Formats: sequence, structure tokens, C-alpha cells
Amino acid sequence: MAKCPNCKINLPLLKTGFLSRRKNSFKCDNCQKILEADKFLLGVLGATGGGIGAGLIIWHKTIFQNFSSPLIASIVLAIVLILVAAYIQSKLVKLKVAGD
Ligand SMILES: [Zn+2]
Repeated sequence: MAKCPNCKINLPLLKTGFLSRRKNSFKCDNCQKILEADKFLLGVLGATGGGIGAGLIIWHKTIFQNFSSPLIASIVLAIVLILVAAYIQSKLVKLKVAGD
């Protein structure tokens, strides 16, 4: 779990797992500092996750042809992958106090 670089409190997955290049900062609830995530890493993770998700939706009929509802199966898998990606991002993300 990512920690606040200022007060070292554990940050919730919801705050660190879903950051993107467009929204790469948030406020620590504990110390009220604005924290910024490294944009390059967010871009790499976002592109990887987006590519896998788009591929699943496009190829769902081929990949999930043995399921009774290929689209639903691919959406469920996409959601699982998003949660896994959010968890990985919360582990890897580099945070710094804005303005430092
Ligand atoms: Zn803090």
C-alpha cells in the first residue's frame, strides 16, 4: 500500500489506484498536503491496462466463445483486471508532496 510521503500514513487504494495522467494529484486526508504521482509511471500503467481492456472487448467472441455470455464474461474479467491494475498501481506509484 502506498504511503503519504509527508505523514507516512497508509493511503487508501481508492486514492492511489485510480490516478491517471489527467488526474495525478490528490489531498492526503491526514495531513492535508497535496500529493502528486509520477506521470510517466501512470501513463505506462494506464496504456497497458487500457490496451488489455480494449483487446478483451474487441476479441471477447473469440476468447470467451465457450461461455454462454461472452460479453458478460469479458466485462467481468475486465473489471477484475482493472482492480488488479489499481492494486499494482497503488504498490508502484511514486508520490511526492506538490511544490517540493
Ligand atoms: Zn499525509
